[in-house]
Amino acid sequence: MLVTQEACPACQGSLEILAGQAIQASGVGWFRSYRCKTCDFRVEEDGNEPDPSLREELLNRQGTWLLQIHFLKDRLAALLIVGQRLKISARDLIQPEVTDRRRVAAGTHLEMEWLRRCLLEKAITAEVVRSPTNQ
Ligand SMILES: [Zn+2]
Repeated sequence: MLVTQEACPACQGSLEILAGQAIQASGVGWFRSYRCKTCDFRVEEDGNEPDPSLREELLNRQGTWLLQIHFLKDRLAALLIVGQRLKISARDLIQPEVTDRRRVAAGTHLEMEWLRRCLLEKAITAEVVRSPTNQ
């Protein structure tokens, strides 16, 4: 989650903005929550569609995360599900630099958590791990 401050549109006080990705029925969407500590101004919004600039900022601040299946025998089935959910072909997902074949996807923490749950629905167990390429 990202936290920023802005001037409150109602009282010019300090408006706190919390923003992040959120799991929606259709996939990974976003939320933003605005709260003024001085007056009672308060707005909550969310959306179903991906927010590329929010995603970029989350990757920069929180690093890349990997989805790692527990059993290699599940690899092809896992890639297929990941590809369907992300609406790209499984072939495009296989990164040549991936040396650990248990890794089936990379992205933000919440995206990987969402995909982990999708795999679990098909009885494929996996875990979300921090990419070793992060500092
Ligand atoms: Zn205010």
